[in-house]
Amino acid sequence: MSISNENARNYKIASQCVHSGTKNDCYGSVIQPIYQTATFRFKDADHGARLFQGADEGYIYSRITNPTVEAMEDAVAILEGGAKAIGCASGMAAVFTLVGSLLNAGEHIICTASAYGTTITLLQDVMPKYQVETSFINTHEIESVKKAIKQNTKLIIIESPCNPTMMLTDIAEICKIAKQHNIKVAVDNTFCSPVLQKPLELGADYVIHSMTKYLNGHADVVAGIIVLKDEDEYPHFRSMMNNYGGVISPMNAFLVHRGIKTLKLRVEEALKNAIKIAEYLEKHPKIEFVRYPGLKSHPQYELGIKQSKGSGSIITFEVKGGIEAGKKVINNTKLIQLAVSLGGIESLIEHPASMTHALMGEDARALAGITDGLIRLSVGIEDADDLIKELDYVLGLI
Ligand SMILES: *Cc1c(COP(=O)(O)O)cnc(C)c1O
Repeated sequence: MSISNENARNYKIASQCVHSGTKNDCYGSVIQPIYQTATFRFKDADHGARLFQGADEGYIYSRITNPTVEAMEDAVAILEGGAKAIGCASGMAAVFTLVGSLLNAGEHIICTASAYGTTITLLQDVMPKYQVETSFINTHEIESVKKAIKQNTKLIIIESPCNPTMMLTDIAEICKIAKQHNIKVAVDNTFCSPVLQKPLELGADYVIHSMTKYLNGHADVVAGIIVLKDEDEYPHFRSMMNNYGGVISPMNAFLVHRGIKTLKLRVEEALKNAIKIAEYLEKHPKIEFVRYPGLKSHPQYELGIKQSKGSGSIITFEVKGGIEAGKKVINNTKLIQLAVSLGGIESLIEHPASMTHALMGEDARALAGITDGLIRLSVGIEDADDLIKELDYVLGLI
C-alpha cells in the first residue's frame, strides 16, 4: 500500500517529498502513472448522472479532475500543510485563479511592489478592466501596508523574498494585520518552496507557486498551483478553474510530481552553493553590492531566520561600472547560462531591468529599488567551486 494522504501529513518533509500523493492502484504501481486520457467511461447512465451530481466519487473529464493531476495536487497540499490544492497550467494561471476567484468588481488588492513581473502586469494592466484595482506597496514596510488598506481591500499578495531586490516581508505580521481587517493573504512561495518556508503556518490563507521553478526543478515544464488552507473554499476555487480552463496536463503533473521527490535535496544543495557564492561575491573588489537574505549584511537577516529555514538560492548583485560592465558579465558565462527563469538544477543569470522586469516601467522599477546595473543569479546544483571559478573569470574581464 502507498501511504494515505492523512498519514503523509505525519511524516517529515523528506519522506513527504518522496511519497506524498501517490494513489493505490490495482497494479501496485510504486510511482503514480500518467492517466493520459481526456475523458472517463461511466458504468451506466445512472453512474454518469451520480458523478455529475457529486453523489459518487470518480472521474468525469480531465478538465474537471484527473488522477495524475490529483496525485500531484495532494502532494503539494501536504508539503505546504494546506487542505487542498489546484494544479494550474502555469504560475500565472495560479495567480489568475487566485484573483479571479476572490475579487469582485470594485474591490482592491495590495501587492508587493517588486513582485514577479507578469504578476504586476496582470494586476496593473488587465485586472482594472474588471474594476479590480491594485496598490503596489513595499510590503517589507509594515506601516506602508497599514496605510494602503482601504474599505474595499480584499486580498494582500506577498512575495518574500521578492526579486530582484531580495527584500523580505514579515508574513506573520502582515497576516495579523490582515485578519483585523478581514482581508485574505496569499503568499507566492515560489522562491522558497515548502522546504524553506511554510506561509500557511505563519497565518496565510493561500500559497501559490510557479512550479516551473523549484517544485519541478528541471526546467522542462511550465506549471503552477494554488494551495488553500480552508477546505470549505475548495469548491469555489475549483469551479473557477473548471470554468476558465487553465488546468495542468497529466504529463506535466507527472513530471512535477517526479521533480518533487528530490525537492528537499535540490533546494538544500542549491542553498549551500548560494551561500558560498554570495560570500565570495561580497568580498570581490569589482562588486558594488550583493543582495541575499543569507548574508549578515542583509538588513533583514534576522527576519529571514525567524520565518524561513534558509535563504534560498537566488542572489542579485551589481558590478562596478554599471550596465556595460554587467553586460560583459552575463555575456561571458558558459556554465551559468544566460536565460530567465530560476529554481532549476542548472544555474541561470539574467538582467532584470531589460528582461524580467522591463514591462513594469521605469517609475515602478525605481519605487521597487530595481537599478539598471542589477544582475540576478539563480544558483543551481553544479559544484560550487566550478561556479565560483567561472564568476572569478568573468569578473576579471571588467
Ligand atoms: C515564474 C514566476 C511566476 C510565474 O510563473 P509561470 O510558471 O512562469 O507562469 C510567478 N511568481 C514567481 C515568484 C515566479 O518566479
